[in-house]
Amino acid sequence: MRSLVESARRWTLWKSGLPTRLPFQSLLLMYHRFCPGEGGNGLAREHFATQLDYLDRHFDVVSLEAALTPPAGDRPRVTITVDDGYRSFHEHAWPELRARGLTATIYLPTRFIDDGAWMWQDRNIYLLRDAAPGRYKLDWRGGTVPLDLTGGRSLLASLLRVYEIGRHLDVDGCLELTDRLSHGLGRVLPKQPPAAYAPMSWDQVRELQNAGVAFGSHTVNHTILTSCEAEVARREIHDSREILTERLDRPVTSFVYPNGDFDPEVRAMVEAAGYTSALATYAGYWSPSGDRLAVPRLPAPAGGESVLADRIWCWWRKFGAPAPQLASKSP
Ligand SMILES: [Zn+2]
Repeated sequence: MRSLVESARRWTLWKSGLPTRLPFQSLLLMYHRFCPGEGGNGLAREHFATQLDYLDRHFDVVSLEAALTPPAGDRPRVTITVDDGYRSFHEHAWPELRARGLTATIYLPTRFIDDGAWMWQDRNIYLLRDAAPGRYKLDWRGGTVPLDLTGGRSLLASLLRVYEIGRHLDVDGCLELTDRLSHGLGRVLPKQPPAAYAPMSWDQVRELQNAGVAFGSHTVNHTILTSCEAEVARREIHDSREILTERLDRPVTSFVYPNGDFDPEVRAMVEAAGYTSALATYAGYWSPSGDRLAVPRLPAPAGGESVLADRIWCWWRKFGAPAPQLASKSP
């Protein structure tokens, strides 16, 4: 248990502006969904707002490309990245960024935007999260998967169990899984996703681009690239870049691995497709000596300014690297 002394020390350091002295070069924060208030399906808008105020005070909030290049100043840098292109970014997060003169980089699975449809993992999350509490069985390809939806950790374990099945399937297999789940839970999936799961439209994407938001690729179908056939992975990586370049009328050079999963083969495909940066989800800070096609990111916590400040302190303790060594490697 954290002692009172340690708590007081951390609080004092935070209030005194500790992050301006953190020994790392760039922090890439990862966001997904946003919602109007606490208790919704995403980060509450007011919490996002206070996180931005905190970051703006202590960091240089920079573009992805600026974060990946050697540092120009003394202040640590942070880049805001947002995965999946949910409409809730446009509704709840963008107004807070714009009001502060800040921006973000958003990574899109192109089929999600094209169809205005569900992402495969969201279909299952929706069915599982809102099912009547109880114990169920999923009949799946000759076997039975027990699902305990009585709440808390049991519900989370069931969500992960179904996700683990889905991540190894192709597009048709994911649809089959949702069908079986819908049948097993006795729930009907709405044809179009409700607001919390809905994607932005291409018009909204272009509106944001014109206002200074950057976009990158997150495959076509949000396929887990280490779990599918090599040819499928290659198409997901290549085609999404082609589609985005055409829709946005500008080159697309950055990529995010779905679920953060990649291996040397997938990394090589990303490089061959012409991307010059690729972001993962393993924890750490970026330094200019790192691999631009395996950039670490840290998940923004669910909470406001004090929660983020506390998390940054913990990350620094865990992943911080000595700054002088990094600086000496910069050209
Ligand atoms: Zn994603």
